[in-house]
Amino acid sequence: MNKFVLCDLCGDENPRFVLDSPGLDGPLVECLKCGFRYVGKRRAALTFGSQKPEEAVHKLRAANVHFRHLRLEEEHRLALLNAEWRLDLIRKIRPAGKLLEIGCSRGDFLRVARESFDACGRRGPVST
Ligand SMILES: [Zn+2]
Repeated sequence: MNKFVLCDLCGDENPRFVLDSPGLDGPLVECLKCGFRYVGKRRAALTFGSQKPEEAVHKLRAANVHFRHLRLEEEHRLALLNAEWRLDLIRKIRPAGKLLEIGCSRGDFLRVARESFDACGRRGPVST
């Protein structure tokens, strides 16, 4: 059994530990194959639909309590920068092709990803 979850981007095992922070849901790790940094062990399930709505709202508010509110334009600018950074990581592994984003929210990443990929998205998990 792995100490950390598999890389969210390339699926590689055994990422390198980076840091622990009370602001994260688990330890921050770095994939040794693709360089992606992600939370390597999830302490809490923030999956929508798996718990009562009031419970999800409470957890979400607690997780966001230290974030300051941004003007909408600034929030969009940061979301675009984040999307471009994520897309650059993906292009290192696969430069083009089909891309499906699960949990695409308002589609910031999809808009950027369509520059290189035949991209589409779903707002929630795929049911089995
Ligand atoms: Zn990786």
